[in-house]
Amino acid sequence: MWLTFKFRLHPLPAIEAELLRWLEELRFLHNYVLEQRSTAWRSEHRSVSYLEQQSALTKWRAFDVHGLGSLPYDPARDILQRVDLAFRAFFLRVRDGGPPGYPRFRRELRSLSFGQPDSVLVSSKTIRVPRLGRIAYVRHRPVPPNGVLKRATLLREARAWFVALAYEFPDPPAPPTTPPTNAVGVDLGLTHLATLSDGTTIDPPKFLRRSEERLARAQRSLARKTRGSHRREKARMRVAACHAKIRRQRRDFAHKLTSHWASRHDLIAFEDLDISRLQGRGLGKAFADAGWGMLREMARYKLARASHRFVEVPSKGTSQICSVCGRWANPPLPLGAREFVCPGGHRMDRDLNASRNVLARGRDEVGRNSAELTRGEREPPPGRVGRTVYQPRRARSGSREPSLTRNREPPPGGVRRPEGSPGPER
Ligand SMILES: [Zn+2]
Repeated sequence: MWLTFKFRLHPLPAIEAELLRWLEELRFLHNYVLEQRSTAWRSEHRSVSYLEQQSALTKWRAFDVHGLGSLPYDPARDILQRVDLAFRAFFLRVRDGGPPGYPRFRRELRSLSFGQPDSVLVSSKTIRVPRLGRIAYVRHRPVPPNGVLKRATLLREARAWFVALAYEFPDPPAPPTTPPTNAVGVDLGLTHLATLSDGTTIDPPKFLRRSEERLARAQRSLARKTRGSHRREKARMRVAACHAKIRRQRRDFAHKLTSHWASRHDLIAFEDLDISRLQGRGLGKAFADAGWGMLREMARYKLARASHRFVEVPSKGTSQICSVCGRWANPPLPLGAREFVCPGGHRMDRDLNASRNVLARGRDEVGRNSAELTRGEREPPPGRVGRTVYQPRRARSGSREPSLTRNREPPPGGVRRPEGSPGPER
């Protein structure tokens, strides 16, 4: 199981300047390799492979000693991998008939990654980055000791720097098949951020509202500034910083809430995501939407980590069915109604009713699963959480998937994979 810990980083001015230079070099590299692939395809109908670009990168670095050559190798290779992944995702979308979304040039790059972070040394107060030295960071929460560092990313969010450390931990044992002792159903909504089947309601904390007011002020101030002026640029940075702060506060809140849930409940049932439910609700939708996704994802991995169960149940009818007797509301409950009224006379808060339905469906599902499990099949361990591990495409003959490697000719000079390059991992 992969877990990522994100900490505030405090680079000294000289190191920050160097980091910014790196980002600029990497951005250039990113746009260059993207352009290379596009041009090769447009002019010669030839696909440029990842390995081809990797060997070109090595030569480039040897030549450009003050530019790309002055950076560690790892982040540069990571850029090639990002572009390769972007193209693969693009071709998959083309195959599946979705909107293709061709990989885009970058005007700005905000992060750089060490995909083989052996060279990055993490102590309790500093991280040591090759060719940069030590950078102070704030370890505001502990990292469990049994993790293996798999990836280190330095990122910049509106003038602030962070380091995201991805660790691999041993998979936790699978949840027990016995019935849960403290199960809860969650209804995510707009009136309350969440309503639990035990009657708890959760609202966004006050500090979020205050930050949002600050953001609104900053936005009004930005709107008054003359286009192209320095003051406008400063105001723009303030708005960006407000946005970034709100994002962090939301995340922090979601972390604390879901940690609390994971420690209290051994089964949590959520509704599966139903887009139609969200449509036409206007105000606050996007915010609430992002918040819900975050809560769901955090709850998923935190429960898995604690060997507790997380289930998603179909959302159809959860707000229209009586959680006491199972009858459908007749006439259907209108969108704005706060109280559920059952034809059988039961009355209950709308969201509480929904969350109890979610819990009942969650229990059913778990019951079914454990019945199947006791019939002999063991469940696979909980899936990895975290980033997909990058694996270069292996040449597949007879594959019908449109791919970059399809028309590949052997690269000139026969490229050997340099040592330490991302071969098919393990
Ligand atoms: Zn009823």
